[in-house]
Amino acid sequence: MESNNKGTSSLPFLLCANWKMHKNPDSVRDYIRAINKLPALKYPKRFIFFAPALTLFVLAEELVNSSYGWGAQNCHFEDQGAFTGENSPLVLKQMGATYCLVGHSERRQLFFESEEMVQKKVKSLLNHSIQPIVCVGENIKERKNKQSFQVVENQLSGILKNIDSLDRICVAYEPVWAIGTGKVAGVEQITEMQEHIRHLCATEGKTLHFLYGGSVNEKNIKELSQIPGVNGFLIGSASLDPLSFFNLAQNLVPAKAGI
Ligand code: PEP
Repeated sequence: MESNNKGTSSLPFLLCANWKMHKNPDSVRDYIRAINKLPALKYPKRFIFFAPALTLFVLAEELVNSSYGWGAQNCHFEDQGAFTGENSPLVLKQMGATYCLVGHSERRQLFFESEEMVQKKVKSLLNHSIQPIVCVGENIKERKNKQSFQVVENQLSGILKNIDSLDRICVAYEPVWAIGTGKVAGVEQITEMQEHIRHLCATEGKTLHFLYGGSVNEKNIKELSQIPGVNGFLIGSASLDPLSFFNLAQNLVPAKAGI
């Protein structure tokens, strides 16, 4: 990985809703219709919805010709084959998905995904022109032991090995201790990790897209969105209700909202 911190990302500011294993086809349809009925957002923003795999066909139907994007929370790296229970990146592409989460800490912890597996997924998604959002972050023990930078560096060097189009990567820094706990990372913690990640990943003339995730909500997004260089957020619980998600988007600082 080259060290260069110059340039701009080609993606807009993203508000990514990770619904995990919540919602069914009917509630996904109701959600999108509810969002579409709300008054126009104060500033143009890009919502990306990550629904459970069994409901993705609803997003494909409801978001045709929409400025909002959608994607899967995980996929396999092969297009087809004997991989019971997996999602094909080729089929995601055929359905119209433009984004996919990879390496979420719940996938790593509960489903034992390794850096090597995540790396293969990133490669496969890039081959299909689907935007990977690579999740990295340390757990509480690692933070207390002052290993956060090293942990994230190890994760990224494994995941981004032999991937030359780093400008097409979106990295979400999601400290495990902040996910679903109500303990949001501090401005300083996000800033220094952002600098570390950008230093590790930036390529000549362009930089990667940097997101933060972990207990972002309507109240704290204003302060978080003022952090220079943060290009969006990955949001779990606070994205489950359409009105809360909409309100959260209204609370972005104007300078960020239009990016
Ligand atoms: C997540 O699961 O990626 C996440 C950020 O969740 P929450 O917003 O609930 O912490």
